[in-house]
Order: sequence, then C-alpha cells, then structure tokens
Amino acid sequence: MRNRLERVNAASEAGLSRTRARIRDAIPAVDELSSAVSRINLAPWEDPFALALGDAASIAEEGEPAPTLAGIEAEPSTTVTPLEPADDDSFVEIEEARDDKMRRIAKTLQAGDVVEQAHNIVRIVGVDACPGLLIFGRKNMYLIDSLVYTAEGEVIDAKDAPKDILSIPSGTLVELDPADQLSLRWSYNEIVECNKRAFLFRDVALELYFSDKRNFLVVCKDQRERHMVVNKLQSKDEQRDAISRSVIGNFVLDTVARATDKAEQQLAIITKKWQSREISNFAYLQLLNQHANRTPNGTCKTRAKLTSDVTQYPVFPWVLSDYTSTHLDFDKEGTFRNLTLPMGALTPARKEAAEERYSATEGVGEKPFHYGTHYSSSMIVCGFMIRMSPFTEIFLALQGGNFDLADRLFSSIPRAWDSASSDNRGDVRELVPEFYYTPAFLLNINHHDFGKKQGTGEVVDNVALPPWALGDPLLFIHRHREALESDAVSRHLAAWIDLTFGYKQRDPASFNCFHPLSYRGAVDLERMSDESEKAASTAIIHNFGQTPVQIFKTSHPSRFVSPKSELPIGQRFGVAEQWELLMRSINPIAESTTPIYDVYALGGTDEQKPAPLQSSKLPVPGHHFLSVQYGFADDSIRVYYQEASLARVVYVVEGIDVKFAVFANPTLLITVSTLSTITAWRLTIKGFGAKKGDVAMHREATLRGTTGKVTYVTASKGWSMVVAACDDGSATVWDMNRLRYIRTIQLPRHESIKFASVHESDGMIALATAHHIYLYSLNGYPIASTWVEDNALPRFSFGLTSDEPAPPLPEYTGGITFLKREFLRFGALFVIGIGSELALYRCVPGARIFEGEDVKPWTLVEQGRLSRSDEQLGGDCTMVKFVGETLYAAFEPAEGSNKHLLYQWTLPEGHARHVPDHQVHTCMAERCGRHFGLLEPRRHCGGCGGAFCGTHAVYVETMEKRYCESCRSQLSYASATGLLGNRRDSAAHSSRRNSATGTASRPGSRRNSLLPGSRRPSVSGQAPQPRPSGLASMGIVHGM
Ligand SMILES: [Zn+2]
Ligand SMILES: [Zn+2]
Repeated sequence: MRNRLERVNAASEAGLSRTRARIRDAIPAVDELSSAVSRINLAPWEDPFALALGDAASIAEEGEPAPTLAGIEAEPSTTVTPLEPADDDSFVEIEEARDDKMRRIAKTLQAGDVVEQAHNIVRIVGVDACPGLLIFGRKNMYLIDSLVYTAEGEVIDAKDAPKDILSIPSGTLVELDPADQLSLRWSYNEIVECNKRAFLFRDVALELYFSDKRNFLVVCKDQRERHMVVNKLQSKDEQRDAISRSVIGNFVLDTVARATDKAEQQLAIITKKWQSREISNFAYLQLLNQHANRTPNGTCKTRAKLTSDVTQYPVFPWVLSDYTSTHLDFDKEGTFRNLTLPMGALTPARKEAAEERYSATEGVGEKPFHYGTHYSSSMIVCGFMIRMSPFTEIFLALQGGNFDLADRLFSSIPRAWDSASSDNRGDVRELVPEFYYTPAFLLNINHHDFGKKQGTGEVVDNVALPPWALGDPLLFIHRHREALESDAVSRHLAAWIDLTFGYKQRDPASFNCFHPLSYRGAVDLERMSDESEKAASTAIIHNFGQTPVQIFKTSHPSRFVSPKSELPIGQRFGVAEQWELLMRSINPIAESTTPIYDVYALGGTDEQKPAPLQSSKLPVPGHHFLSVQYGFADDSIRVYYQEASLARVVYVVEGIDVKFAVFANPTLLITVSTLSTITAWRLTIKGFGAKKGDVAMHREATLRGTTGKVTYVTASKGWSMVVAACDDGSATVWDMNRLRYIRTIQLPRHESIKFASVHESDGMIALATAHHIYLYSLNGYPIASTWVEDNALPRFSFGLTSDEPAPPLPEYTGGITFLKREFLRFGALFVIGIGSELALYRCVPGARIFEGEDVKPWTLVEQGRLSRSDEQLGGDCTMVKFVGETLYAAFEPAEGSNKHLLYQWTLPEGHARHVPDHQVHTCMAERCGRHFGLLEPRRHCGGCGGAFCGTHAVYVETMEKRYCESCRSQLSYASATGLLGNRRDSAAHSSRRNSATGTASRPGSRRNSLLPGSRRPSVSGQAPQPRPSGLASMGIVHGM
C-alpha cells in the first residue's frame, strides 16, 4: 500500500531515534518555514523537532487502530481515534518520511483533532483546476491541494490517481507548482459563508468565505457529494460565532457575505438599500455580480491571489467617456458613457455592424447574435490585470507562455476606451471592479518586459492615464470611483443592470445578444456523453466568456437621486459633511485610572455605547467573558474568564514581557515585548472558555523585519495586515493571512513614529510623528504629508525677544482615526489629537492649495479643530476613535487628578450619551439648579446629553430633539452659516454648503470652540470655477 499510514507498536530505541532524525531532516530550516507557514501551519519559532514528533505522534495512539480515511468513510467519527498528543514512547513510524503524503495531512491536522469526513474536490485557481482533499475534522476544516483519496482510503498523489477519481469536469486539471499548493486549516468559526455556485454551468460548486478574507471555489463530483459537504458544514454551524460574520472587515465583502443567505428576498432588500443610497453603486454592483455567479475576488484586496474563477470574474461598466480632458467635468455633456446601450453599440457605425451580424447569423438556424466576442472573458480580465500576479501568470498560460504583441497589450486607458467603445469592432469589453478601487493593476511594479510597440517603439510599462488623473494612479481611481458614484451614473445605472443582469440580457432591440453558448443553460455538460464535444464546449465557455446569470426578470428600479447630498435618504448629518456640528458630551462618558487606549463596542452589537479599553486588558473578540491581560510583575500573559465579579485565570503564558497587544482578528493576537519582539499568537477556545483547558494560546509566528524600537502597532482586520511603527521612522507591514512580511515604509525623516492607522475603506496607512503626518497607499507609495500647525497666538508677538526661548511647538498626542465611509468624494478624513484639541484633516484630491502652485494630486489639509474643553483644563488627548459617525477621544488626567477621561462627540441626530440619572439631580444649566422631580422631569439635550429643566432644554426649529443653550448656540451658528438645512425633507436640497464655514471663527460656545486652522490655505480646484458645494463642504476657504 502506497503512502499508507502505519503504526508502530513497539519501537526500539534505535528505531525511535532513527525516526526522529528522519523527521528532523524533513523539517525545513526556520527561515524556509516562516515563508511557508500558511502552507503547513507550523509555528516557525517552535522547536521543529519537538513539534514534528508531537504532530506525527498525534496521529495514532498506543493500542488503537490508526485512523485511515477508509475507516472514516465506513464509520464516521465514532470509531475514529482522538488525535491526542502522545507521550514519548508512542509514536508513529512514517514510511518514506520525506514525501509521505499522509504525514503532510498529519502535519496539517491540529493536534487532538479527529477526521470525520473527507471529500475529493477540485479547487479552481484562475483558469486551472487543481484536485485536492477537503477534510472535516471535529474541530477544523482542512483543504489540501494535490492529494486525493481512493475508495480504499489511501491518500495518494493526485497525479497517480486513477481516472475515475478525477472525473470532476472542470477544465484542465493541473498539478500546481509546489509553491502554490495549499494546505490550510480553519476552525469552523472562521468559516463566514458557504454559497452554492455553478461552475461551467453545472450546479456542483461551492464558494467558501473565511474570516481571514480568503475565499475558495471548490467543485464537487456531483450534487450528492456537494450536499454532503453542505450538510456537514451546517452541522458545524453552532461552532460558528456570529461575531465572525461581523469582523470580516472590508465593507463590501461584509455586505456581500451578509446579503447572500436567502437570495431572492435578500436581493430585494439590497436593491432597496441601494435605492435609498445606504450602499454605494460600487457595493451594489459587487453584490449583483455575486448574485449572478460572478465571484467577488475583486474584494480580496490585500494580496492579488486569485482563488476562484477568472471566467466568472465580476463585470463592471465603463461609466465615463471623457479620457482626454485635463479636467473632468461631471456637468459637461459627453462626460459620461451612455449606459443604456452595450459597448458594442455606442456609435452609429457599431450599431450598424451589430445589426449586420445579427441578420447574418439569423439565417444559420442558431440563435442570432450581435457580437463575435463577449464583454467579459478570461482573456479580458487577465488582459486588464496583466501587471498583477496571478493574472500575469494566467495570461501567460492562456497565451501559451508569451506576452502578446506589445501593441495589443493593455497599456493606456484612453486607448482602451477608444478601442472598446468605437475603434475596434471585435472589442466590446466592459471593465473589472479594480478600475474603481485599486491602482495596483495600473503599475508595472514587477517590472515585466512587455516589449516595445511596433509603430512608435514605445516601451509598454505602466498604464497611461487620462490627463485628468495628473499622472497619479490613485487619483485616477478616485476620480473614476467618484464618477461611478455620481448622480449621472446613479440615474442611469439601472439601464446597464437591465442589459447585464436583467431582462434585456438577450434583447435584440438593445443590440445586446451575445453568442448563444455564453448564456447559462445553452449546453448541458452533464448530459454530454461525447468527451471531445464536452471538451470543446468547455473550451468555448472558458475562452469566449460567460454572460452573468440573469437575476432580474423585470425592469430594474432607479436610484433615488438627491443632487446635494451623498448621505443615505433620511440621514441628514454626516461628519464629512458637517463636522462643525459635532457636539461634545457634557461630562466624560467614562473615567479610568489607567490610560484609555481604545473603545470597544460591548458585545459587538451596541455601537452606541462603546466602553473604554485599558491598555493592559484586551477583551477577546466574540467571547464576552474572556480577556487577555498583561503587564504583570511575573512577565506573563494571562487569559481571564470573568463572569460578574468572579474572575479566574484560564490560561497563562510565562516569560513574555508584553508592552502592547492587539487582536489582528478574532483568533490572532499580536504582542510586542519590551525588547520589540512582535509575536502572533493563535487562540483556540472551546465553548465559553470558562475553565482551564478550554482556552489555549499558541505562538504562531514571530513577525520579523522591524529596524528600530517598536513604538506603536495597529492591525487592520479588513485588510488583514499589521503595521508596526518604530522610533527610527520606519513602519513594517505584514500580511496576517500568511503571517508574512510585506514591506517597510521609511519616512523621509528619521523621526520616531508615534501613531499609525490603517484606513479600513482603502487600506491607506497614516503615520504620525510628533510634528508630521504622512499618508501612504496600501502599496507603500507616499501620497501626502503635512506638519503640525501652531494654533496658539502668533509665535513671535511683540515683546518676545529673540533671547527668550520660543514656546515649544505643539505635538500630535492622540492617535489617528479615519472616518469610515465606503467612499468620500472629497477625500479621506481623519482626526488626530493635538494637545487638548482634536484636529481634523482631509486628504484633498486634485487641488491647488496656494495661489500660483500647481494642482497637486493629493494635499493634506487641516479642516479645523474641536477642542476638548474651554473651562476644564485637562491633560492631552491620548486616543481618538470614530465609531460610525460618533467620535470618541480620551484625555490624560487633569492636574491634581488621576482620572483619564473619555468624551464623545455626536452629530445633532446621532446618539447623544445621556448623563445617568444617579449622577445629576439638578438642572445642569449655569445658575439654575432646579431639582428634578414629578413637576420638573429631566430633559436630556440631544447634543451633549446633559440633564436640564424645561426652561433650559428646548426644541429647536427643524430639529427633532431638545437642546441646551450651549448646544443650541452651536446649532444656530451652523444654521446661520447655512450648514443646517431648513427642514428635514428638504435638507438634501438646501444649500447648506453655500459658504465656507470651516475655517471661519465663531462665537465661543461653552465647550466646543471651533478653532480656525492657522494656515488658511486658498484652495482652488482644477476647474476654472470650482464648484462651491464641494470645496465649502471641505471647510476650505477659497478665493481668499
Ligand atoms: Zn447640550
Ligand atoms: Zn434649568
């Protein structure tokens, strides 16, 4: 029996050491391991010897039959031996230690896990199909490439498998390069979603989503087999925490995952959400693609590792037709593409040609069609993304190993538009989602040699951009996305949806008929008995392109468009739109004797009431009663279980002097030691983790690559990355899926970095030193930077002689937080603490800041400041955090106090935190002091949450809540400057952006004085006449 697992009952000493030696040889060196960690799930720090022996030994136990897959098939789980770690004298002899495949499975299996079920599947990787094993353990699910198991329960190499085992029709079966072969494990609560999918029009595939943002498309042998897999997954459902669904991070994928449960019903709901502008055009198109069987790999942004199927890549429309102007004017006629017609019929000449072909094919007896090519195919997808792995490789595979002629490669966006919209009859391409969210595919970062164009000799390198992108790929993506989200597109997108996903998918009148084979149901591969015919049809579907599954039977409804507001219908205020209206809670909402370094939404649901987090105590995500604590005298990390007042230690790791810790995802803890060692720990938790043995923490990797002393660490769940900032001005980025180093960003100055933050919407990285802020793109390119502004009185006023030392320049003191919006037309907005104030910055696209300067792609501009307090002198801001449109900030204790204070700022219709009844018994208005009672009920102010008497909290025109005097004055100031609409329903139409308010000074209110930015830039956009709506809402004065 080949590669069959054998158990050795009585091993001699000699045999034992021989086996150990063999295993040791088979273990790669530590460096190799750390790069291969995702493949074999070994912790590189572990003593390789001990680990390997432990894992190998865990396969069998003394006196028990070794589990084989055959046994498992026959008698699932009940007779299977638990894979407990064995002691020293029971171990398993491994035959052919170096290449024994069972050993690889054994290594992948977590110690103590039990195999319950196994399935041969085919994993789709780009255009390739790779055979593999899907194993259900008691605790985890495993996916292992290039192995199959036979009816006898042997695990063998796929390439040695008899034909009948690999009878899964799936295109070309390949053996992946060893480097691309995966061997992965997930606990069941990391499985976020499992959707049934069709592959090559056969309804036998499954798409699996994981909380680490990966997804895989696997094809089963038949529907019966898939049914078994789905049933098994459902039986594991109770092991899946609800939390794992909410932490998937990335907004779009999150929406996608949540929206796909009950397809029909959910589709109606998301359409409504789109109509009322709760989700963006981008997110909606992504969801429609998903519903139409187009897999959303587009949302796997961190690494361009394509895990699914390029023949079913999401399709997005071209929305612009102006790729030549130096300024993109949304109000100009001809800026937008006609979305009511397919690409092949945008010009009269094209319409004519399409009609000709239609009548020519009509006579042949087949279903007639307009175009000889499709708008989305493997070739088109890989052609657009040829600069990005793995599309480069897939393109090469499709092309037989060579890049195409340089002239035919995608090298210029204006030229691609010309070709697809008019010049080239055979080109009716639509776009891929990447055009709207990542510039990575426009840059030849891997320095591929694409050759020279024949006519001009021009070298094909980065993709040429339209003039309005100012040569900046990120600005191109921003403007392109802005166009996609514009009102013009919102008005007509429904027409394109009808063509692509709806009732006009085969509409002759709209010139929208494609080759019959591109439609679902045209051929039935299941029933095809002739292998060569089957192969030919498979090839056509693969190469020609597939029309998305039709998901709407009737005309698609339109979106509600409101020309003045980008907020959802019914939401009147937003921080990006009217940050000046942020009103501070009258009292601190929390106090703590230890520094507050984050806020944490209790139970993961009640977003309105986040609790403060102390620096040495981290709640375990999804486990209400568990926390990880450190900073003890004995240098330990402890996991506590706390129910009511009862707390007990359920797990301890000793000898680690942890300075700082953060969860990168619900099961992965990142710690930084005082010696700047960064460690990733995997937490495994049984049930509630209430007792010892239920919780375990294993060191999964040491994150290497930092060059200085680590000063700050931040993790982005959405982008699966961890950023560690150092005192030498460098920041190191790791990929949390693979626990692998990605890059180091070096600031232009060697200043110590104090804070770092990742923008969850687009992966932008912000780094702040004491006096500078730098923004970098996800790929490590510098975007913009700025420096601290002195907002105090003029620094060199009269009387200050040069002998006197200048007052110290203010410093950034309190973290960075981005406002989390899917897309902000006027650029990302973030807040940073500076002394006792909070400064708002915006990364403004395509603006001229100072008269006479060139228009820059990106400029960091301070919008203004929120002050913590005018009267309660306190310490510096130490933490800022947006939760939705609510802002939280923590401050150091005031002099003579030891209390760190947490405040919140809310918008007028946000969730003001009311002062608790037991704290206040009299009206909080100055010189009032009226006692609350039956006759004088408390009225809470809708802004600051304070408790007031009837006289001191009154209704304000156009507002739904009562406000205290101070908040009212803030509102009326805003009203006077036009920030406030007139009434609720017309708010969106009013001209609340008609004046530049952001940097104007205002009458001081009790607490929230809005301080003007000291550097008052004059900004003019690219347009000769900048549209006031946008610039004013950015709080920028123009024309000064
Ligand atoms: Zn108030
Ligand atoms: Zn009063």
